[in-house]
Amino acid sequence: LLTVTGLRKSFGYTLVLDGVDFSVQPGQVVCLIGPSGSGKTTVLRCLNGLETPDAGLVAFSDGQSQDFAVPVKGRVAKERRAALRDRSAMVFQQNNLFPHLTVLENVIEGPVHAHGMAKDAAIAEAERLLDRVGLAEKRDAYPHELSGGQQQRVGIVRALALTPDLLLFDEPTSALDPELVGEVLLVLKELADEGWTMVIVTHELGFARQVADEVVFFDGGVIVERGHPRELFTAPKNQRTRRFLDRIL
Ligand code: ATP
Repeated sequence: LLTVTGLRKSFGYTLVLDGVDFSVQPGQVVCLIGPSGSGKTTVLRCLNGLETPDAGLVAFSDGQSQDFAVPVKGRVAKERRAALRDRSAMVFQQNNLFPHLTVLENVIEGPVHAHGMAKDAAIAEAERLLDRVGLAEKRDAYPHELSGGQQQRVGIVRALALTPDLLLFDEPTSALDPELVGEVLLVLKELADEGWTMVIVTHELGFARQVADEVVFFDGGVIVERGHPRELFTAPKNQRTRRFLDRIL
């Protein structure tokens, strides 16, 4: 579905991504793990057009590609970002629902305003998706009336409603109270089983082990090791991976 080659990004003098290569197959779940500050979030943000890489090629298998080594400005840069953004939908650490809109209004906002979908159709689809995550009865509630886990599930529905090719999750459970983590991970697991293509930054290694087709270990802005969770978690080849896992597991 997607191949990323030579992704580089600095903030000022800080080199955050130092040549990152990876690919995601259709239906694959890729979990990005690694120490804080290793660049995982920045990768997602580059894929979603929230950051512009300094260099690197992002290529979708249908031919759409962007070579960031060729700098562009103004309208072209904006179009580039929009083109990337349309391929994926991102779920953030802290859900960023609009506080003044109801659950239903939050979900239909993207399809109606960004995609030009007819409102009736968007509502029907939103209701179907809310029902799937057990939140049908919350459609008219406001975000502050929901628990953190419920808010995060609405955030996921909002991403699904955009029908992206790729779902990006940035530590979707790290801001939640421990007892609310399970309900969100369950939704992610169901999406994986349904065949959604997902890239998930997570500190939940038990979850990554269960759900990921591939685990990618980041450290210092590079991919140190990648592999099937069975191999990477039980027999990591690299010493840095071993040290990280020893600290956490
Ligand atoms: P965490 O697990 O803590 O979220 P991460 O692996 O996702 O960490 P990033 O959020 O990608 O790491 O950050 C990588 C580095 O880039 C960090 O040192 C961070 O301080 C820096 N960084 C990220 N965004 C910016 C920014 N907008 N301006 C300056 N520095 C930034």
